[in-house]
Amino acid sequence: MKVSCHGDPLEVRSPFDGTLVGTIPTATERDMDAAVHSAQSAQRAWARIAPRERARIIARFARLVLDEEARILNIIQQESGKNRLSAFEEVMDVVRLSAYYASHAPSLLRKRRRGGAIPVLTRTLELRHPKGVVGVISPWNYPFTLAASDAIPALLAGNAVVMKPDSQTPFTAMMVLELLERAGLPEGLFQLVPGAGSFIGPLLIDRVDFLMFTGSTATGRTIAQQCAKRLIGYSAELGGKNPMLMLADADPEKAARGAVKACFSNTGQLCISIERIYVNEAVYDSFLREFTAATRAQRIGPGYDWTIDVGSLVSAKQLETVSNHVEDAVAKGATVLAGGRPRPDVGPLFYEPTILTNVPDHAIVAREETFGPVVAVYKVWDDDEAIQKANDTDYGLNASVWSTSAGHARRVAEQLEAGTVNINDGYAAAWASHASPMGGWKLSGVGRRHGAEGLLKYTESQTVARQLIHPVAPLPGMTNEDYGTFMSRALKIMDRLGF
Ligand code: NAD
Repeated sequence: MKVSCHGDPLEVRSPFDGTLVGTIPTATERDMDAAVHSAQSAQRAWARIAPRERARIIARFARLVLDEEARILNIIQQESGKNRLSAFEEVMDVVRLSAYYASHAPSLLRKRRRGGAIPVLTRTLELRHPKGVVGVISPWNYPFTLAASDAIPALLAGNAVVMKPDSQTPFTAMMVLELLERAGLPEGLFQLVPGAGSFIGPLLIDRVDFLMFTGSTATGRTIAQQCAKRLIGYSAELGGKNPMLMLADADPEKAARGAVKACFSNTGQLCISIERIYVNEAVYDSFLREFTAATRAQRIGPGYDWTIDVGSLVSAKQLETVSNHVEDAVAKGATVLAGGRPRPDVGPLFYEPTILTNVPDHAIVAREETFGPVVAVYKVWDDDEAIQKANDTDYGLNASVWSTSAGHARRVAEQLEAGTVNINDGYAAAWASHASPMGGWKLSGVGRRHGAEGLLKYTESQTVARQLIHPVAPLPGMTNEDYGTFMSRALKIMDRLGF
């Protein structure tokens, strides 16, 4: 396992205390050329290997992930500053996703018989070919999940992957590469090209056959334009401003516990975490009391044991955004019910889990993604108001509905404009349903990961149709008019028979 790059060294420092995690060389333009060429040549051989064989490698990778769990958790925590439980969620996710695709990819990629132009006379097959080399650009917030879970379906579909990890978390991505190669992935098939996004991004997009991007909506727009210039496909998983709806029949105590996890897991640096809560007036007071108490009880701090609930923010930039959003809201009239301040006594980048009420609509936090441990709680009077307010956003990534009635919750869920909706859970139920697609509406993304779509987007479809006996055209000696009359009778028969 190696990263063959020759550019400026990149220093990675731990958010916990600023200590050096390690140094890694970044990719130059020449390194990028070499990475893509070697990926192309490895891919040609890989495409000839049966999907069942590829799947065996991914199943072995999942077992290695479990064997190496402690080492993986340590690296993730060291680079990202998150608490151990949030790091463990990444391990669980990668293992389950690998199991899903290892068992389903071979059948999803199979040749399929399709209805032909003319029944019996046309034999049609739909085939799936790999795109070639897939570029993956990922952020730092779930560095293990996001390095593995987009690469795995791309590889299973017969592609090579060239990945640009985030500059904060390259060592976690290197761990994915190491374990894939130990599981039997041919050398050269998965390449890492670390470096600054504004430099590496365009070089990568110029050379690959498809791009999988995860990151902010702003960067998503930039990469979409670059992909459009080359007319290559892309998939973009972007930001969110995700709502939670507490319906009148929600259990306030259960919902409060769920809200703590939904808002503050991974220190709120989670694309699908909850940043707005709409609570029916019937349960508003009791929910807020429980939620505030549970939030204040969160243990915040650095460390590699399992007792910490909320870890560090990842960078000074994140700390600045979080502080600005809270200060701006307070200056505009918001009330702080819990948290609301940085904790330099705990570590340089820590911020307390924060609950705001009375947030006016012109506060930044009301509409823009904070991507930190900050949530605004609003009282609403009925379901219609909750749904209207939840949908009043440019984003549409994730939502959460709490109710003791399954039917009630589902009726509300189906009216929400979001790619995933969790009932009586914040985000994990829908995200971890790997057989089902996951992605954003509106400014939250283009394309989907997970499920059949998350695999087939990495393929080119091909329809091969064989016409038997005679082409779809008049028989020899038949006039066009006779052909028209004959075919319109045939069309009527086909319609009656349901072809
Ligand atoms: P970001 O867009 O700044 O960076 C993401 C990645 O893109 C990084 O690797 C970065 O180096 C790279 N990049 C930056 N500029 C680039 C450019 N011009 N061309 C190509 N690549 C470039 O995002 P961030 O702030 O680091 O990450 C947080 C964002 O990611 C949040 O908005 C969050 O909601 C989103 N996110 C979305 C999902 C999802 O599944 N929808 C998952 C995780 C994070």
